[in-house]
Amino acid sequence: MNKIAQIFDSLDYGPAPETADQANEWLDSKGRAFGHFIDGKWTKPGKTFASTNPANGSKLADITDGTAADVDAAVKAARAAFKSWSALRGYERGRYLYAIARMIQKHSRLFAVLETMDNGKPIRESRDVDIPLVARHFYHHAGWAQHLEREFPDHVPYGVCGQIIPWNFPLLMLAWKIAPALAAGNTVVLKPAEFTSLTALLFAEICERVGLPRGVVNIVTGEGDTGAAIVNHSDIDKIAFTGSTEVGKLIRAATAGSGKGLSLELGGKSPYIVFEDADLDSAVEGLVEAIWFNQGQVCCAGSRLLVQESIEERFLAKVRARMAKLRVGDPLDKSIDIGALVAPVQVERIKDLMKRGVAEGAIVYEPDGQVPADGCFLKPALVTNVSPANTLVSEEIFGPVLVAMSFRTPEEAVALANNTRYGLAATLWSENINLALDIAPKLKAGVVWINGTNQFDAAVGFGGYKESGYGREGGREGMAAYLKPLWEKDLKPAAVAKPVMAKPANPLDGGHLDQTAKMYIGGKQARPDSGYNRPVHGPKGELIGEVGEGNRKDIRNAVEAARAASGWANTAAHSRAQVLYFLAENLDYRRDEFAARIKAQTGEDGTEEVAQSVERLFAFAGWADKFDGAVHNPPMRAIAAAMVEPLGTIGIVASDNNPLLNAVSLLAPTIAMGNTAVLAPSSRHPLSMTDFYQVLETSDMPSGVVNIVTGDSLTLARTLAEHDGVDGLWFMGSAEGSAMVEKASVGNLKQTWTSRGLDYDLSDPRFAGDYFLSKATQVKNVWIPYGA
Ligand code: ADP
Repeated sequence: MNKIAQIFDSLDYGPAPETADQANEWLDSKGRAFGHFIDGKWTKPGKTFASTNPANGSKLADITDGTAADVDAAVKAARAAFKSWSALRGYERGRYLYAIARMIQKHSRLFAVLETMDNGKPIRESRDVDIPLVARHFYHHAGWAQHLEREFPDHVPYGVCGQIIPWNFPLLMLAWKIAPALAAGNTVVLKPAEFTSLTALLFAEICERVGLPRGVVNIVTGEGDTGAAIVNHSDIDKIAFTGSTEVGKLIRAATAGSGKGLSLELGGKSPYIVFEDADLDSAVEGLVEAIWFNQGQVCCAGSRLLVQESIEERFLAKVRARMAKLRVGDPLDKSIDIGALVAPVQVERIKDLMKRGVAEGAIVYEPDGQVPADGCFLKPALVTNVSPANTLVSEEIFGPVLVAMSFRTPEEAVALANNTRYGLAATLWSENINLALDIAPKLKAGVVWINGTNQFDAAVGFGGYKESGYGREGGREGMAAYLKPLWEKDLKPAAVAKPVMAKPANPLDGGHLDQTAKMYIGGKQARPDSGYNRPVHGPKGELIGEVGEGNRKDIRNAVEAARAASGWANTAAHSRAQVLYFLAENLDYRRDEFAARIKAQTGEDGTEEVAQSVERLFAFAGWADKFDGAVHNPPMRAIAAAMVEPLGTIGIVASDNNPLLNAVSLLAPTIAMGNTAVLAPSSRHPLSMTDFYQVLETSDMPSGVVNIVTGDSLTLARTLAEHDGVDGLWFMGSAEGSAMVEKASVGNLKQTWTSRGLDYDLSDPRFAGDYFLSKATQVKNVWIPYGA
């Protein structure tokens, strides 16, 4: 038989290799040894490590392991460049971003091949997904640069941003970090991951070629220590990190108290839910994309298949049949589906996890056939017979391993889907639009794909809930993450209140006071667990009342009550607004009493403070049904509905000045957006907020939405920070207290806002708007396909 006839007979795929010549020429032209790109110049290679091609183990180049001195030089260059870069007109910055986008498109084949050689991902993906998205990101942000002033009035860039990225989408993660940072007027020091530095270095050359002013982009290569040197550098204003939750937590702890901005895009264990009425063949194709795209080394990989029991067998049979057709092999071959994993250490890690899972009862299916013997290849795997506690279900595997479980009802699907510490993404398949749109908002994830998966676009924010991190990349939210209000830099240290000398008192005297205010938990007044009260003194040190001395147990009860009231989030915004208006009205009705109480505690006339508190409640009642989302139009037949959702339960620690206005200003945006709250009012002047119970009780506020625990602010703040049931924590107080709160929040990576000892004057009208609303919410992007 001649060759063509043979091909028709066997229908085998022939090799379709992409040439590596150009990439090799580029590497050769650099002598296959790289220094850093700092201040627009290349440093000489220092102590180096090898970057290898994981598909065949061959060395590609030597990469310099950056030292703290290298990082320092890069930060100095970025600092020096910041003034003129941020002063450029947005249009001019946009022109540079546009030029970068054009150059990336022009050299897209070189970038794609180099990425595939360095990372092991199939050329089909680097060519059709990674690099086009990189270009799209720079185009999109060229526009933001130009429209910045109009869209973000009175905002300024952070300054120098330290950016640390992983190896799974080397150039794409660089684009996600650098494009918005530059558009906003920041300068950057970026460290690529040690396995995959090459496209970042090629990108540096593009920066040179487009004439980007020196120092605006600095690329320092290296390992974890180099990353840590960036994190700890005192002249960096913001850290943006993408990588493992483990390192994300180290970075949160390391930056606590530093005042550095922080955004974290971390791990995931995303559910892929298939309902019985789904288009099963499409869902199988989606699944291939969800878990075998980039060998499963994707933070938002749909790695947990949840399939409705009625179709489980049928669906899994289709999945197995499809797996048998996936081609594993040379990533530079254009007909390959699954390439090489990034490094031998990852292959070993995945094999170890699989062994553990199997020992715990998992059954693993892998299709027949061989994978290339040399190089970091693994077959696709389907894992069944697992419970939620199995290692393979709970741990992020970051490889081509799918775990499957079944569910019976939509409620069970949601419960299983949310049963993870992560919350990056979720996918659901159903032909029933009512079901799909009912489930999407219930999934605790930053991105939800309906009848599709792994869709990304520069105009649509991406980022996680829970331990998948905070901050968004892409779209308006992504721009906001690189800007801060202009006035923040002018904040002065808050005046430290003079201690009041308490008049000597006999503890037994307390019993003669006509009022000992209790705590307010779950809509009821509650005695403190400790059984102790704390005295409240007037301005001259006289005893004017007592409140409960709250402890760990009281906070726990309050958090439990707050979480039980989470249905508040589903109350219509209009109804939440009504409750806030009602609170305002009832407070206004009792204004004289509240003013007198302020006077008794602080000695100041409280009339104005009460009036401002009423106005603040009105303001956020007005916001409840207005601070909402958007509909994005990514370049495909889909919309992305950006839904503004509450964080969940927010802890609030208010400060001593303006004891009523302060607490109300923090509480109102929280509850207006559908969060529930645990409030620790001023330790010193708590009676304004213990009086507030009666206002709450007469205003139709559902039980548990607002809980108030009195006591020592720092003690209560620490307990709130350490509590995993608290999703966000706002702390007004000293710099040391703020650092403590940020550090102690690491456990569940709760989102914090702290005043860091600065004078945030909450009576300023600027706090009646989006400043706290945006901190009380997170954006979920729901991708909805339309059209045929
Ligand atoms: P992954 O699991 O994706 O490899 P890592 O979190 O280990 O994720 O790595 C992501 C990036 O973080 C890499 O660039 C790595 O060098 C860097 N890195 C690792 N350890 C640290 C650290 N302690 N501080 C800062 N950066 C680090």
